[in-house]
Amino acid sequence: MESTILNISVIGGGYVGLVTASCFAYLGHTVRIVEIDTKKAELINKGIPPIYEEKLEDILKQTSGKNLSAQSHYEGIDDADIIFICVGTPPQDDGSADLTYITRASESIGSALKGSEKYHVITVKSTVPPGTTESVVIPAVMKSLGDTSDSVGFCMNPEFLREGRAIDDFLHPDRIVIGGSSEKAISVVQKAYEKLDALVITTSLKAAEMIKYTSNAFLATKISFSNEIGNICKRIGIDVYEVMKGVGYDHRINPYFLNAGLGFGGSCFPKDVMALIKLAEKNGENPILLKSVIDVNEQQPGRIIQVLHTRIGDIRGKRIAVLGLAFKDNTDDVRDSRSIPVIDELLTQGAIVSAFDPMATESMKKIFPDITYHTNAGDALEGADACLVLTEWPEFSKLTDEFNRMKSPVIIEGRRILSCSGIEGVCW
Ligand code: NAD
Repeated sequence: MESTILNISVIGGGYVGLVTASCFAYLGHTVRIVEIDTKKAELINKGIPPIYEEKLEDILKQTSGKNLSAQSHYEGIDDADIIFICVGTPPQDDGSADLTYITRASESIGSALKGSEKYHVITVKSTVPPGTTESVVIPAVMKSLGDTSDSVGFCMNPEFLREGRAIDDFLHPDRIVIGGSSEKAISVVQKAYEKLDALVITTSLKAAEMIKYTSNAFLATKISFSNEIGNICKRIGIDVYEVMKGVGYDHRINPYFLNAGLGFGGSCFPKDVMALIKLAEKNGENPILLKSVIDVNEQQPGRIIQVLHTRIGDIRGKRIAVLGLAFKDNTDDVRDSRSIPVIDELLTQGAIVSAFDPMATESMKKIFPDITYHTNAGDALEGADACLVLTEWPEFSKLTDEFNRMKSPVIIEGRRILSCSGIEGVCW
């Protein structure tokens, strides 16, 4: 059976938008990215990804200039069958989601579609609080189109990709969730994915929005739960990794997201759990569990500093090597990385920080311009009084002789990845 080739526009060419656009182009659709940052759009058109994401460069090289293009204006999107909104939804000061970018993008889409006679499905992929598509996106689009327009449908299709493995996650998803304003709208979005062998779940718009928040909140809860158990284990001298391994074999629990350590960071978990807390409060609920998930997470970076004190005492003037700056391995993203509060505290207490990350140095320089960055782990470890391992980069697990360059072999892991044999002084 012939598969359908659609015209797709993707608004926002960041982590989610660029991966979404490249993968849809890879699946054969004709894709146009609208990215207001002209530099990013230019790079994409040259086949250069503005972010690091495994396999993205390959896919971009295969599609850019062929069936994938990028531009910084909204002209021409009226040829699209589907318009995916992939702009950011950052936290406001009180933790609730800032919907400014969503509103602006929706208004621009409405203006660009004015007068079009083609049927378009405007689909929100950004993570938005339940009710946003109905109360923010639809009115902002319809402001230009008029209430009577039946040439548009609306869907909410949350994205579950993990940075660092985003391409594989997009092409091999556990499930695809499509919430829609009508069967017709949902069926168009379903066509975009028809080449993927994936379970499709169709829901209301609000349920799709809530599925995304709930998934992230549940995963964050698993991590904070593991950290709480880890903190108890530490007090009584039990290895929490041994415990969680035994727990994770229970198929009702599963082994994923049970790693105790520094806690969760990144652009999604902290902001989405906070946004869910705010949503609950706005609706008269006191989400005690979700608040505790955040509280436990906030405390974990301070705990690694406490362990450091027990090993080397006062850290003023001491050289501390930091291995890992990205919020997780395989990405250059440092948004809400747990290494930020750790480095902040090290500097506050007068330590000298020498850092290494395989990908995230440039991003972290914007936050900490004055610490010393190295191009390899060995140089960062040279003469160090202690080393903190803050990101689970697989290449760190292969380090051995490099640790001999330290002044004293005090190595504290915020993520359990080192192989202990041959390394002295590993703890946590
Ligand atoms: P991002 O900041 O990397 O990308 C957003 C892009 O949108 C930026 O490049 C920005 O310049 C562009 N933009 C902003 N306003 C625009 C406009 N009006 N028109 C065109 N372009 C515009 O953000 P991201 O990490 O890709 O996240 C996007 C959304 O997806 C968020 O809601 C996020 O919560 C959600 N999400 C992110 C991930 C992730 O791992 N990063 C995973 C799932 C869901």
